[in-house]
Amino acid sequence: MKNFILPIEKLIASFSKLPGVGRKTAIRYAYYIINSPASDVRNFAQTMVDAKETVHYCSVCGNFTDRDICEVCTRGDRTLVCVVAEPKDILALERVADYNGTYHVLHGLINPLEGVTPNDIRIKELLTRVSLDHVREVIMATNPTVEGEATAIYISNLLKPLGVKVTRIAQGVSLGTDIEYVDEVTLTRALEDRREI
Ligand SMILES: [Zn+2]
Repeated sequence: MKNFILPIEKLIASFSKLPGVGRKTAIRYAYYIINSPASDVRNFAQTMVDAKETVHYCSVCGNFTDRDICEVCTRGDRTLVCVVAEPKDILALERVADYNGTYHVLHGLINPLEGVTPNDIRIKELLTRVSLDHVREVIMATNPTVEGEATAIYISNLLKPLGVKVTRIAQGVSLGTDIEYVDEVTLTRALEDRREI
């Protein structure tokens, strides 16, 4: 038999769409599902549907939440905002114990080569927040890559006329390193040594 029967082939195709999953792994996953008890498979599918239906962007910061306003925005200082590219960057920064501000997730970085313009990421929402919440400082914590730097500079140019202090986390981090993989000590120092841009 050259091909899998259609229901299995469809399952393999679905698993192949997951990040880091090649066809070989997708086939293994498909057989795992077929061999699992029906109730387990139903629960698994329902967990995915539930997560997809209940998780959305926080109406303030854009982080994932199952409420209207996320926990960090509820308890944090909203006049101090740390700007990150993705929700996963918040997890890393939250390990820095003495930061009591809030975050703003851009959900991407400006990248002209891939057609990502300033309108495609959540910059408008940041500007609205800055005036509504009387933000005193915006810390740019995008990764130290070409796109991360360009986005930081672009946003800082928009914010400066509004009288907001804009800072950039210190680059104790080597070029191209993802913030999510940086250790606590380095990240704490990077935040403490932030400089105005
Ligand atoms: Zn939030």
